[in-house]
Amino acid sequence: MIEFRGVALTYPGPPPVEALKPCELLVRRGEFVTIVGPSGSGKSTFLNVAGLLDSPTAGSYLLDGIDTGRLPDRARTALRGRRIGFVFQSFHLLPHRSALENVSLAMLYTSVPRARRLVRAREALEQVGLARRAGAVPGRLSGGERQRVAIARALVGRPSLLLCDEPTGNLDSENAASVLTLLDELHTAGMTVMVITHDAEVAARGLRTVTVRDGRLGERTPA
Ligand code: ADP
Repeated sequence: MIEFRGVALTYPGPPPVEALKPCELLVRRGEFVTIVGPSGSGKSTFLNVAGLLDSPTAGSYLLDGIDTGRLPDRARTALRGRRIGFVFQSFHLLPHRSALENVSLAMLYTSVPRARRLVRAREALEQVGLARRAGAVPGRLSGGERQRVAIARALVGRPSLLLCDEPTGNLDSENAASVLTLLDELHTAGMTVMVITHDAEVAARGLRTVTVRDGRLGERTPA
């Protein structure tokens, strides 16, 4: 579902920074991959390219068989909206909106009618085990619950790929564990999950670990 063929990204600068060196990668549907590497190694750059937020300066990136480099900007944005769900370290929830509204607002600019958006948002909250907290604003939720709302928001568009950037970075160990269990469950249900992390415990959850070092992708073979 994700295929990098000689994908590279050089930030123009000056001075130019070769943040991602030409790399090959194949991630199949339903895989759970963790991405690890030291700070500044190119993990965010990798995530931005994989998430269609940034275009490679060389090579081609195929998502579900679609050569994304050939798409005009609008088509690439539409593809991102349909296929990719993002989860970030800081949850980016609207503080004065309920969990349900935060999730349903993710569909605001889609063709899903309003009434249907609420039904879908409820389903997504159920999926993350938070249906009973649908009416709560983020300030009334624990960190782990907030991240679950953010995950529900990422899922509501029914993406084929969930891209998570340090999803437990702001959580204590108990809340982190609940979020990781949820990601495990989603993976078991068939979702393709990629998690960027510098946390060895999180990395160990992945069935496959990709390493990033000085802009190069590598593979860590399980012990
Ligand atoms: P990580 O996420 O692993 O910390 P990044 O992908 O953010 O690493 O950064 C990789 C390299 O690219 C670093 O040397 C960083 O300084 C550089 N970099 C990141 N973003 C930009 C940018 N917009 N312009 C120039 N250089 C950048």
